[in-house]
Amino acid sequence: MQYVGAADPTGCVLCDKLAEDRDAANLILHRGARAFAILNLYPYNSGHVMVAPYLHTADMAALPSDVSADLWGIAQRTVAALTAEYRPHGYNVGMNLGRVSGAGIPDHLHLHIVPRWNGDTNFMPILGNTKVLPEALDQTYERLRPYLQVADHDRQT
Ligand SMILES: [Zn+2]
Repeated sequence: MQYVGAADPTGCVLCDKLAEDRDAANLILHRGARAFAILNLYPYNSGHVMVAPYLHTADMAALPSDVSADLWGIAQRTVAALTAEYRPHGYNVGMNLGRVSGAGIPDHLHLHIVPRWNGDTNFMPILGNTKVLPEALDQTYERLRPYLQVADHDRQT
């Protein structure tokens, strides 16, 4: 568990990682205009990515539309990358809002993108605390980074 334990427990782990200039170590896959993609430190499955706004907010209802658009665009690119590299059978895509919902970082919105394979596990553990340790995080990072490192304005597709 080499990536665990660096963050200030009183601060926001997402904002802390954004403020640092070491995206590979922090497993940040992509920085967009208003949002970014980062690997979940506690993946429910191989390829578990979170997409979050730069804006530190828990208020989904009040998220500015340009932020929503960038967040969703990065989510679409992430699914495309996962499909190309991992060929999952499906996905769970969603947000947990509030600690009662199971949100691990309740003060900073983030969209979970979890690839699913037939027979990988039941649905419920995805929303709970089950940890299946699938693939080493640095390996997942190396596999997905090529798809997501190109800036939006440099994309050819
Ligand atoms: Zn934050």
